[in-house]
Amino acid sequence: MLKKPVRISITGAAGQIGYSIIFRIANGDLLGKDQPIILQLLEASNKKSQKAIKGVIMEIEDCVFPLLMDVSAHKNPITAFKDANIAILIGSLPRGSNMKRSELLAINSPIFIEQGKALNSVASRDVKVLVVGNPVNTNTYITMKSAPDLSYKNFTAMLRLDHNRAIAKLASKLNEPVSSIKKVFVWGNHSLSMYADYRYATVNGVLIKNIINNNSYWNKNVFLPAISRRGEEIISIRGVSSAASAASAAIDHIKDWIFGTNNWVTMGIPSDGSYNIPKDIIFGFPVKTKNSKYKIIQDLKIDKFSQKKINLSIEELKNEICGINHLMR
Ligand code: NDP
Repeated sequence: MLKKPVRISITGAAGQIGYSIIFRIANGDLLGKDQPIILQLLEASNKKSQKAIKGVIMEIEDCVFPLLMDVSAHKNPITAFKDANIAILIGSLPRGSNMKRSELLAINSPIFIEQGKALNSVASRDVKVLVVGNPVNTNTYITMKSAPDLSYKNFTAMLRLDHNRAIAKLASKLNEPVSSIKKVFVWGNHSLSMYADYRYATVNGVLIKNIINNNSYWNKNVFLPAISRRGEEIISIRGVSSAASAASAAIDHIKDWIFGTNNWVTMGIPSDGSYNIPKDIIFGFPVKTKNSKYKIIQDLKIDKFSQKKINLSIEELKNEICGINHLMR
């Protein structure tokens, strides 16, 4: 007998990342080849985007995905999030050139306030929310705070792309397959202040920091700048921002959240005060996942260098929240 379909809402569905993720999800890459799904796609209400989403749906129909029970286009989050089991919030305005982070937040906040309220009133009570749209940590905070009837544990931000980039960089440095690298993670804000931490990471069971020549120099001067600037580098080469890799990271994030993993993974989650990260701010943490729940990995030693890096993200996030708090009253 077929399983009950899972309802997946995706915002910004006709955008770059949306166009990449939808077809993979409809193909069963997220929930498996025996799980029927229903897609509820939200796009901006302007004519251009509403036309674009119709075109995307025509293509989806032409793929004749056996698992896809229904697909619909929406311009209102109340209908788009109705009974959603999973909500992937990608849609937001991209940062324009010369635009400050605070200006972008001011523009995007109303989107996430409205969507948080809609999730609060119509989504399934155990909806799993992944926010992708930037500035992603604070957008997640806004969404979560706008949905007071849902548990904070329902809300997560995507730092998985940074996590995956860190694995890719280490694998290439060590000339080993990506699957041999374990226990890498990223602390903090999805911004230049992020701190990709491989102090505990292993390759085929051996501590990586012990086998990299001049480890401290390479970490500070090559690895960390490469990870935090990878997005910019891709824009400068490809002309547009990462999309397929972002879509793939979003799938990894939700898949590991739902199905669990023995590896350590990075999720942007509301802080519970662990590692003295102020409560409720959305921070990249190392987690383990099991039975659709995540647990922060505790008792990792935070040395002076790491604390300094973590503090940068804390300060940045506190400032971002300060800048939007008045919009949420
Ligand atoms: P695109 O501009 O290609 O797509 C965004 C889409 O969202 C557009 O179709 C846009 O419509 C739509 N949109 C805007 N406002 C709303 C709204 N209120 N409701 C629904 N849809 C809306 O961007 P990308 O797909 O490339 O990127 C999306 C976001 O993901 C960006 O914020 C980007 O910075 C972020 N990102 C995050 C990463 C991460 O690691 N967390 C990695 C990569 C990207 P319209 O064109 O009409 O405005």
